[in-house]
Amino acid sequence: MKIKKDLSLDGYERPKLEVPNKESKLLLHSCCAPFEFIDADYDKENWFERIKGLENEPERGARCTKCFDMRFERSALFAHEHDFPTFATTLGISRWKDMKQINDSGHRAASRYQKVNYWDFNWRKQGGSSRMIEISKRENFYQQEYCGCVYSLRDTNKWRMSQNKPRIIRGIKFYN
Ligand code: SF4
Repeated sequence: MKIKKDLSLDGYERPKLEVPNKESKLLLHSCCAPFEFIDADYDKENWFERIKGLENEPERGARCTKCFDMRFERSALFAHEHDFPTFATTLGISRWKDMKQINDSGHRAASRYQKVNYWDFNWRKQGGSSRMIEISKRENFYQQEYCGCVYSLRDTNKWRMSQNKPRIIRGIKFYN
């Protein structure tokens, strides 16, 4: 992958990315975003069915592999149905996530289709992590303090209580 640079947005030197094989479009999976997006359905029955028996797995464990598989299978299917040659995900930008675990799921989902590839670009690099925080603060985005499922909320609260910290109250914390 080649990276070109251009100057934009508050003087930040933003890397210009080129999708592998010089493809002209990319399907980008994201678990939340304020931009124009394609809703891939909030399918919690399917999710609970898949993670049955893994409720007590720690974050980055087997439950999360199933969780990523479900999301990327849906993304790969959409890419297949709508002629996207490549898809990627923003999930790996979080330092709490295991990049290899995410990328393995992405490649596994793409391998279901002959003409769909998964791009395992590391969004944390090139200043990506700090840029994410900068934009989140500028836009005053909601700051979720746990990964997203009921089990991650339970485990984060358990840890917080062990540290004498208050339990998470959802919907009140924003970047600023
Ligand atoms: S929401 Fe997060 S913690 Fe919960 S299973 Fe999915 S990746 Fe793991």
